[in-house]
Amino acid sequence: MSTAATEKLALLGGPRAVPEEDEDLFRWPIVTEEDEAAVLEVLRAGGMSGTNITRLLEAEYAAYQGARYALGYCNGTAALLGAMYGCGIRRGDEIICPSLTYWASALPAFNLGATAVFADIEPDSLCLDPRDIEHRITPRTKAIMVVHYCGHPADMDPIMTIARKHGLKVIEDVSHAHGALYKGRLVGAIGDVSAMSLMSGKSLPAGELGMLCTDDQLIYERAIAFGHYERTGELTLPEVTPFAGMPLGGYKHRAHQLSSAMARVQLRAYPARMAEIQRAMNSFWDQLEGLPGFRAHRPAKGSGSTMGGWYNPLGHYRPEELGGLPIDKFAETVNAEGGRTGRASNFPMHLHPVLNTADVYGDGKPTRIAFADRDLRQERGTLPVSEALADRCLGIPWFKHLRPKQIGQYAQAFRKVATQADKLR
Ligand SMILES: *Cc1c(COP(=O)(O)O)cnc(C)c1O
Repeated sequence: MSTAATEKLALLGGPRAVPEEDEDLFRWPIVTEEDEAAVLEVLRAGGMSGTNITRLLEAEYAAYQGARYALGYCNGTAALLGAMYGCGIRRGDEIICPSLTYWASALPAFNLGATAVFADIEPDSLCLDPRDIEHRITPRTKAIMVVHYCGHPADMDPIMTIARKHGLKVIEDVSHAHGALYKGRLVGAIGDVSAMSLMSGKSLPAGELGMLCTDDQLIYERAIAFGHYERTGELTLPEVTPFAGMPLGGYKHRAHQLSSAMARVQLRAYPARMAEIQRAMNSFWDQLEGLPGFRAHRPAKGSGSTMGGWYNPLGHYRPEELGGLPIDKFAETVNAEGGRTGRASNFPMHLHPVLNTADVYGDGKPTRIAFADRDLRQERGTLPVSEALADRCLGIPWFKHLRPKQIGQYAQAFRKVATQADKLR
């Protein structure tokens, strides 16, 4: 691709690196006749609100995840709430959580009278930084919420060591990383409990659905007691059996069977689809290795860690290697080539008004303070890596198929801009 350094940038009137969009390369979810038949069968049987299909899915999901128990939910947010309750998070408690995540990793804690303390992320993995956890632990801390951000496994070994030392539970939010490996182990099977979204945009898509996985019977039964009243007849532990028949939380967390039916088909297809996505994404990044301006967001080769289905793939942007080229100018120039990029990280939660000024439950003060024994608010400047990410992180095309010609064109779009950034100043 020696032309990258000489072929005129499309923004300056040259030919586009990606002459034609191949929408099928990006289409997700992949819905086949098998999905349609599974969903239609439930629809025609009139059993949308039952649990029989969901139970089949749970057994299959538990086997996939290597977990003793899997419990289906109406969505991932509810599964996270169930996991938090299952871990014994109660009024006044705190969880330590990354600020750079989708809000559902943290906000359900408010439903329990608890609150979140945010820790910073590692600049490479973009997951919870194990070195920023311990000093945030107080007698109120009950759990660490780990998010495998945009498919990248978090550094679980030191996090588990810290949790065990302090008697904390570890909840894994696997909503971005179904099937990812951490040093050869499946994420979601390392902490005490995992919760994941199977929302239609996620790497394992099934409409609106969530799943909780654990080996811990108490966590599992508490989660049932809290939000699955129709299943409380299965409870065996004295802590929860007296309350069978009504949900302790006042929540109804049942999964919808049309989504469960689709999830069963998607789960069967997932290992092969994930493997192809991994080959496609790695081939894209391998072609860009060593260029200035950006780096892959992926674990080191040979580490035994993988990116799962590469949900919302990101690249690290390094403007200092391109003469300070602002991220938006870089993105505009790549997009003129047909390259599909732009700012892509989540907004750091600790700076949002919901975590700073909202009095959600009428306490006469912000909920974040009302539910704690001190002012927990974290102002700008307190989580520097999370706060800087917006300017240092790019969305990357999410290839679902290994199509070398097209992927090569997208790589060329990025390569042209990396090698000709000086022409943009
Ligand atoms: C999508 C997502 C959730 C919530 O899942 P829903 O199914 O949309 O409720 C939770 N955590 C993370 C990190 C997510 O991306």
